[in-house]
Order: sequence, then structure tokens, then C-alpha cells
Amino acid sequence: MRARAEVGVFGGSGFYRFIGNSGKQVRIVTPYGPPSAAVTLTRVGGKRVAFLPRHGVRHEFPPHAVPYKANVYAFKKLGVARVVAPNAVGSLKGNIEPGDLVFCDQFVNLTAGRDATYYDGPETTHVSMAEPYCPQMREVAIRSARKLKVRFHEGGTVVVVQGPRFSTKAESRFFSRQGWDVINMTQFPEAVLAREQEMCYLNISVVTDYDAGLEGDPSVNPVSHREVMRVFERNMSMLRSLIGDIVASVPDERRCACGRALESARLRA
Ligand SMILES: [Zn+2]
Repeated sequence: MRARAEVGVFGGSGFYRFIGNSGKQVRIVTPYGPPSAAVTLTRVGGKRVAFLPRHGVRHEFPPHAVPYKANVYAFKKLGVARVVAPNAVGSLKGNIEPGDLVFCDQFVNLTAGRDATYYDGPETTHVSMAEPYCPQMREVAIRSARKLKVRFHEGGTVVVVQGPRFSTKAESRFFSRQGWDVINMTQFPEAVLAREQEMCYLNISVVTDYDAGLEGDPSVNPVSHREVMRVFERNMSMLRSLIGDIVASVPDERRCACGRALESARLRA
């Protein structure tokens, strides 16, 4: 029987296994090369779930080199309609603290040179990105976070930078002055590619640090990779429980436009 899944989970930095080591591993072949790792198929809350660590099992793919197109396509091939995407972020605001979660509803892309579309022609396709994250999935996530009493922010804007280096203080100050909430290196083009495949996409930003520091508070140190991993790991069991609850609570019926993203996206002569 062909492997199938309803929900796909992309593990972020420090999140290389979903629930223990259980589940069947499958290697998926895509026209865009191999995904970051084998996909683990398991069952959570009565749903079939596919798990794929976006950086590979040993974090061998830095943010700018993640095979995003292969990863998203692997989920599509398995029949995934809903993607849950946890990722580590730096906070750009004092009230967004390490350990908090942010269910982002917007992103600003400042990356460069990433392959960000499945549609290079001849069929010209312009998907809408006005609402890049699935509103229905965000509602489900907010309910689960309330139920599990975790600290979270209902919405926010993530600025996506190229990396792999972290920000200068001047850049970080510029980003916070724009009113942006958190900073990350992987939300683009992953969210866009999911939309092009008409999948719902939920961002779960796990705040690990204060980017280049916090203005006016010299005691806050700039981010280091070690600190990101430490905070992410400390929040791992909370994150697993939350994702488990979200997966179990997602209604089968899609009450959003994500599944019809291509309907109005194509130009026809
Ligand atoms: Zn949706």
C-alpha cells in the first residue's frame, strides 16, 4: 500500500525526531532532488502524520541550503493537506520572551537567491500571499495553546533573513523599528511553496533569544547557535504536546482558501 499522511510536520532546529523514534521511515523521491531526510510516518491523535526535519537529522542543511522544494513536494506526494511548521526565532520586542511561542500571521522576506517557486513557466502562476499562513490552523493552534497553558502570542510578523550568520546590532535595531516581531531564516520560501501546493501552513515560532540583544538592556547577550539549541531543547516536550494537540484537533473540513490557491492564480490567454 502506498504511504499516506494527512498532516505534515517540519522539525526545526533542535527538533529532529517527532514522538520518540516510533514510526515507519520512508524515502521519498521528488523531481526536485532528495528531501532533507527520510520521512517518518506515524499516528498522532487518530491522524496519519508525516515528520521531516528540515535541516536533516544531523542539522547538515543550513537555512539557505535546505532543499525546500523537495521537502514540501515530499509532503504533497504523501497526500498532506496541512503542514505544521515549528521553527526557532529571535525576538525583536521586549514583551516577546525566550520560551514564548508566536503563531505568525505575516512574513517579510529579506532572503536572496532562493528557489521559491514550482512555476517557472510556461504556465504562469501568481499565488496570493496576502495571508501567508492558514487562518483556520492558527485558530486551532491558539485554542490548543490556551488549553495547555503555554505562553504564546496570537499573531506576529516574522522577518526572514538569508543567514547563516546572525544579525548585526544595526540590522536588528532596524528590524524592530519596522514593527516586526521575530526573526528567522527558514520561513521563506517554505510557506510560499506550501501555498503553491495548496496546502495549509501553520507557523509556530519558538522564541529562543533576543537576536542581537535588546536595546537599552546591555545585560541581554546577542544570540549564539548554542543558546538557540539550548532553549529549543528545553521547550521540546511542551512543543511536542502542543503539536500533538493541534494535530488531533484539526477538523477534517478545510474552512479556508488554502486548498484553492491555484484557482485564481493562473493567467490564461
Ligand atoms: Zn488553510
